[in-house]
Amino acid sequence: MKEPLYDVTIIGGGPAGMFAAFYAGLHELKTQLIEALPQLGGQVRALYPEKQIWDVAGKPGVTGEQLIADLEEQLAIVDIDQSLETTVAEVEQTNDGFLIKTNQGQSQTKAVVIALGNGAFSPRPLAVNGVEQVDPQRIHYFVQHKADFAHQRVAVLGGGNSAMDMAMMLEPVAEQVYLVHRRDQFRGLPMTLSRLKESTVQLRTPYLPREISQAADGTLTLQLKKMRSDDETTLNVDHVLVNYGFTANNAALSDWSLDLATDRHLIRVDSTMATSVPGVYAIGDGNTYPGKAPLIATGLGEGPIAINALAKKLYPDKRMATHSSSLKINR
Ligand SMILES: Cc1cc2nc3c(=O)[nH]c(=O)nc-3n(C[C@H](O)[C@H](O)[C@H](O)COP(=O)(O)OP(=O)(O)OC[C@H]3O[C@@H](n4cnc5c(N)ncnc54)[C@H](O)[C@@H]3O)c2cc1C
Repeated sequence: MKEPLYDVTIIGGGPAGMFAAFYAGLHELKTQLIEALPQLGGQVRALYPEKQIWDVAGKPGVTGEQLIADLEEQLAIVDIDQSLETTVAEVEQTNDGFLIKTNQGQSQTKAVVIALGNGAFSPRPLAVNGVEQVDPQRIHYFVQHKADFAHQRVAVLGGGNSAMDMAMMLEPVAEQVYLVHRRDQFRGLPMTLSRLKESTVQLRTPYLPREISQAADGTLTLQLKKMRSDDETTLNVDHVLVNYGFTANNAALSDWSLDLATDRHLIRVDSTMATSVPGVYAIGDGNTYPGKAPLIATGLGEGPIAINALAKKLYPDKRMATHSSSLKINR
């Protein structure tokens, strides 16, 4: 049986892949979007659906869940094929394009847009004495529902933007939020930092968690050691939210036979998002070029660049409409 033939296959349904798929559909390219998880939205929906996002154009504060719901609504305007719970295991170069092999089957495509983020992601675990003896339900790495933390004492561990965001997100519902960081300085947006300083979040810096234990009533005790000192202190809380960043697993990518130029596991691209393999483009968190900022806004912008570039190569005689107002929208 002949496999379906697409103009473009977008691999990865995070915000970058979703918007690229919409844009390709809008320009009437035969498009498929493939996502490994059972849902679209990438890191935004999986890791921080209830966090407020402030730095997406035209959205003066939006939750992760709402942003992805809006992208889904936009995607529904166009006619493209979507495959969820489908992991791309191999992208093989053929005479006329590429063969996409997944755990569900295979298809052919003339061009590929890789939008894998950093690949399958998992949080860096809390590695302190006693952690194995503590009820795992009280150690968290994501916040799916703020309500789970209502009227609870929560220690957020970490010093990056997302640790500050998590602390600020829980502040209105929790009884008390503590932010524990091993440095006095936080790495984050100045606006987040000043909102944090005005909030009721109590800072415990520069402290490093050394040990954790749990009392019979479920309360957790964190043993904190002051950096460059012998001082120790304890913190009693109901939940710990660990925010030490994520390790990304790009194993899928390195298993593919495509000979992509990379820089520290990120795919090198030029100003059209083209990779070292003709016909293959990379957008979103998974690519790199001088000045790259791994943000939602950046990934959303890179999709149209890649789609315009590949459409010009596939259909050099076809004039692509520059503005969406010149296109036929089914609405
Ligand atoms: C806690 C936290 C807070 C953040 N806050 C902000 C913020 O406020 N503002 C901001 O701009 N950015 C923020 N970011 C960064 C933002 O989430 C990323 O820049 C964005 O998600 C990147 O989008 P993407 O589409 O490139 O990749 P991702 O969102 O990582 O999506 C990639 C998708 O590819 C899929 N995939 C992986 N491998 C395969 C495969 N082999 N086959 C099929 N599918 C596959 C994955 O399942 C995933 O759904 C934050 C990140 C974190 C972790």
